[in-house]
Amino acid sequence: MTLPYDVSVLVRGWLHGSCVALSGRGGPPALIDTGYHTGVAALAAWFEASTGRPIEAAEAIGLTHIHSDHAGGVAALVARSGTPVLAHRDAAALAEGWDTRLLWLDGTSQEMPRFAVDRALASSGERVDLGGRSWEILWTPGHAVGGVAWWCPEDGVLVTGDALWEDGFGLLNPWVDGPGVFDLTELALDRLSAIAEAVRVVIPGHGAPFTDAPAAVARARSRLTYLRRNPHRHRRQVLFNLAAFASLARPDMSQEAMREHVREAARSFAPAVVGDVTAGSADSADREPGTEAVVEEVLSALYRGKSSTSGTSGVSK
Ligand SMILES: [Zn+2]
Repeated sequence: MTLPYDVSVLVRGWLHGSCVALSGRGGPPALIDTGYHTGVAALAAWFEASTGRPIEAAEAIGLTHIHSDHAGGVAALVARSGTPVLAHRDAAALAEGWDTRLLWLDGTSQEMPRFAVDRALASSGERVDLGGRSWEILWTPGHAVGGVAWWCPEDGVLVTGDALWEDGFGLLNPWVDGPGVFDLTELALDRLSAIAEAVRVVIPGHGAPFTDAPAAVARARSRLTYLRRNPHRHRRQVLFNLAAFASLARPDMSQEAMREHVREAARSFAPAVVGDVTAGSADSADREPGTEAVVEEVLSALYRGKSSTSGTSGVSK
């Protein structure tokens, strides 16, 4: 699978969401998503190598959504060159209020230097010129308030952030974002499904670009059904993901510090199974464990994973 000549993708695992450099096709270059705040120097070097222009020359930074692993580097880039930031209007409102709980920073040990959105994008169908391409903005909420996919129908390039990966999507957080996240995810998948046959390459927020969008949407739908039916497993998965992210962001964290971190996340970020989600629980193996039991399960899964897969297996921030 080959990307168009003017599109480059930086894939850096789970700590950093993938970044997309657009060389501009004769006009100014641009960037979609920045990765975590600790990776800006590497991002700048890669951008210049990919586009032949320094990152200060970018006409704008487009965002798929405002989570620390996708927008963590925005403040540093804006400070360097005043680059305008484009995001969905709900994401713009989120940035304006900078509520650290709604931004998933509380209880997660994640950091994201504050920034503002300069241009708020409409919910669906708005056309945006960025990096020499005309993009249609598809509102893809669920995983993130104000999540969008950047869709270029001209040659079928789709940048999905964490709304769609080759196998699944980013974690859903009904504790912070409300139990409606499941229905919002369905809405996002419907929207992506409507264009899936025309997609030639999907650039997801984590993992390598891929071509079979309809198959990915089908897998995402079955993942969504599983999460709806297994709220206790979902809660464990969320806590595992937060722990795995913390282990990447702070690799020197001791096991005891990690235990406290997961405990705190369990208390403040994912305190219990949420409201009407339990009504959908249809899997008898999906039992309700106490919080301490969940903490120990997450820890043992994390350290077991660490010895065999560098702690990254199953992360879905
Ligand atoms: Zn995300």
